[in-house]
Amino acid sequence: MIAKVRHIVDKKRLMANLPTERYVDPKYVYIATNNARCDKSELYIKVGDHVNCFQVIGMRFAKYFVQPIHATVSGTFVGLEKHYHRNGKLIDFIKIENDFKDTFDSSVKKRSDEEIKKLTKEEMTEILKDCALVGLGGSSFPTYVKFQTNEKINVILINAIECEPYITSDQRIMREYPNRIINGILYALQAFQCNKAYICIKSKYKQLKEIYTEVLKPYPQIQLKCVGNFYPQGWEKAMIKSALHITLKDNELPMQKGIMNFNVSTIVGLYKAIKYNIPVVKRNITVTGDGIMYPKNFRVRVGTPVKELIQLCGGYKDPEKNKVIILGGPMMGASIPSDDCIITKTVTSVIILNDVENKEEQCIRCGSCVMSCPCHLQPVLIMNAVKAKDKERIKTLNPLKCIECGLCTYSCTSKIHVLDFVRKAKIFAKL
Ligand code: SF4
Ligand code: SF4
Repeated sequence: MIAKVRHIVDKKRLMANLPTERYVDPKYVYIATNNARCDKSELYIKVGDHVNCFQVIGMRFAKYFVQPIHATVSGTFVGLEKHYHRNGKLIDFIKIENDFKDTFDSSVKKRSDEEIKKLTKEEMTEILKDCALVGLGGSSFPTYVKFQTNEKINVILINAIECEPYITSDQRIMREYPNRIINGILYALQAFQCNKAYICIKSKYKQLKEIYTEVLKPYPQIQLKCVGNFYPQGWEKAMIKSALHITLKDNELPMQKGIMNFNVSTIVGLYKAIKYNIPVVKRNITVTGDGIMYPKNFRVRVGTPVKELIQLCGGYKDPEKNKVIILGGPMMGASIPSDDCIITKTVTSVIILNDVENKEEQCIRCGSCVMSCPCHLQPVLIMNAVKAKDKERIKTLNPLKCIECGLCTYSCTSKIHVLDFVRKAKIFAKL
């Protein structure tokens, strides 16, 4: 399906100009009991219990951290139901019937500017941990863990590049919430005792450039950086190289170079957590693709069923054709076996494509996949080693360096899904 993206990238500009439609009150919301990073959980509620919006209703457990589960509406716990998660697995979701009252949990607390100015990095870290803030660009990495670094941070980068085709949710956030973004950045600067931040956008986002040149005037410590218009410019290494002219070595983390980076949606989540002590319960998403009647930008409640959003988009276009449903971008997102899936806080977009038969041909050793790989890997050799089940050879080809950008598949002359082989190689390399 990645190959299809070639013909449709210019639709993104049209989508970015569509206003955001609010759909924040579904009758039921569904909250994932676990996710890609947390494979176990415990519930604190029983069927029939009333819950408040933002209430901690359970806990997820990962190997090295725990993550509170929050109710995203007020209402009644109906029970557990299985639906597809963004990770492609059928898992248990906590079903809550919305009472449409939006009764807030007692933990919600508005902090004054004076209170916030006194917060230390450690105190902010605890707030972000309690609010379960994670990388909302799709990484789902816990933000509080990034805050725990002891490295001296000299610059903060805000990633608003959104380089994958189709997705426009970050562009909409940039247009709609400049104050939240600026305040979130100011809180992060305070935490890291740092006085320089750059918001990175693509050079071709002229409207955003105009808006932010104006709104950033009172904040000389925050500047706009216009970077390349290519994919994968949003990959942190590519962004850092374009914005700061710093090249990270293999296995080198940005913070080791004094750089801290956050996705722009995450910085809005950080603002809400610090200012109001609340977790993310709503988010901007794009629902688009050639298999949907009317593509739209939405602001939705976390826990909204994707089926309801498809209906709001006028349903499927060409319903007789098979559909491919992707949660996340078409290059790095996950293909989900059914539309019975749910918006979690890290879903940036829902892409519905009419399925096309992509007949793979034999590898002609053209080298396109090698030339397009931003990590300087040799995808064709990795593919051959996987086919030969040669574990030792696989390890020498460093598949773990792959960022799963999908460019090898996109550029393959023979329409081979090269990335599938690289993913398999990563599993082999870890054994
Ligand atoms: S998916 Fe991995 S192997 Fe393929 S081009 Fe991207 S980084 Fe390279
Ligand atoms: S791009 Fe495709 S055909 Fe060309 S070398 Fe790579 S795998 Fe083979």
